[in-house]
Amino acid sequence: MFFRFVLLFALLLALPKISHAQEASPPPTVGSTASFDPVQATKAWLDTVPADKRAKSDAYFEGGYWLLLWNLLIGAAIAIFLLASKISARLRDFSERTTNSKTLQVAIYAIGYILIVAILSFPLTFYQFFIREHQYDFATQSFGAWFGEQLIGLVVGLIAGTVALSILYAVFRRAPRSWWIWGTLAVVVLSFFGNFIAPLCVEPLFNTYKPLNDPTIRDPILAMARANQIPVTQVFEVDASRQTTRVSANVAGLLGTTRIALNDNLLKQCTLPEIRAVMAHEMGHYVLNHGAKLTIYFGVVALLGFAISRFVFDWAMRRWGERWQVRGISDPAGLPLLMLIFVTFTFLMTPVLNSIVRTTEREADQFGINTSREPDGEANIALKLGAYRKLDPTPLEEFIFFDHPSGRARIQMAMDWKAAHLPAGNLDAPEPATQ
Ligand SMILES: [Zn+2]
Repeated sequence: MFFRFVLLFALLLALPKISHAQEASPPPTVGSTASFDPVQATKAWLDTVPADKRAKSDAYFEGGYWLLLWNLLIGAAIAIFLLASKISARLRDFSERTTNSKTLQVAIYAIGYILIVAILSFPLTFYQFFIREHQYDFATQSFGAWFGEQLIGLVVGLIAGTVALSILYAVFRRAPRSWWIWGTLAVVVLSFFGNFIAPLCVEPLFNTYKPLNDPTIRDPILAMARANQIPVTQVFEVDASRQTTRVSANVAGLLGTTRIALNDNLLKQCTLPEIRAVMAHEMGHYVLNHGAKLTIYFGVVALLGFAISRFVFDWAMRRWGERWQVRGISDPAGLPLLMLIFVTFTFLMTPVLNSIVRTTEREADQFGINTSREPDGEANIALKLGAYRKLDPTPLEEFIFFDHPSGRARIQMAMDWKAAHLPAGNLDAPEPATQ
């Protein structure tokens, strides 16, 4: 409460002319608020964050840069270890002794592989998602509860991974030369089904979604949905506070299963203008078809990755294939090599992947502010999200590491919108005239 008061007070000090402009002028016309300086206003918002809070969120976010590197190194080390120790080849041999079915052989290999990787990478997982989240006060779970969810996640990963790898290797066996093209297609189709199934089958394993019944929150959200012809009649609340203190919301589902959900932290910590700003952003993802677009963009990146894999895989096979006892692309014993190429490629593509996502997030921000018309709500939310995302990075840093616009960029956008002072048209009079 005090924090909100400080924000308000700072804004009043920094922007003494807004209210004058609004009082003095008749219906606003374009360019009537030249006295409101969006650059100054952006700076005033950023200055409301105390230095210690800023230092803490910067440290948290910059730690994430190093985690990208650690994840690459650990992932690469596990892959090389499984190949060089011939554990991968032995696991394949075991699967071949167990069954004659090629599909079941891949499934047996996949279960062993996923379990080994989960165990070997557990120390980093534990640090990144338990220790570190507690250090920065984002986590709300005890170790037992957290570990239980990790085990549920592992079971989900075993089922999904085994099915996906069985299909992928069936493709590799049938197309020994053009596997990289058909493999891309298989990955895109699988990710489509994954996006479809996850909200229905996976998310309920971790959180409960229930209809939001408070009309003071629900009705303004549904009004924005109606204004944009989004076919929903309900808003859902998810109990994210079970795991985290973070504020978030989402629009999930495809083909008639669309669901708008906001988390309980958002409800508890934010005002209605802030909630409207967030939900309008989420509706932007839906209206702008971001699910389908991201599937296509990532598909193009995946095709590039598979094309590179084809060359690197063959080259590594010629050099080390015999020593690792891997026979070729359709041999599951080569999976760690494929994963090694994949994690390296993904690491190198970090700026591209982040920029793809950040661009769509920016589009959703633009849509959101035009729908919610809450520039100050948007600025407040940008500051709240700034608890775990660096508020004011350099442009290069934002390009490489940010999958959402930084707080500064979001506030700047909201203040530019506010400064433009768009008129809203003849909303109350009946048009066309009836008499
Ligand atoms: Zn978004």
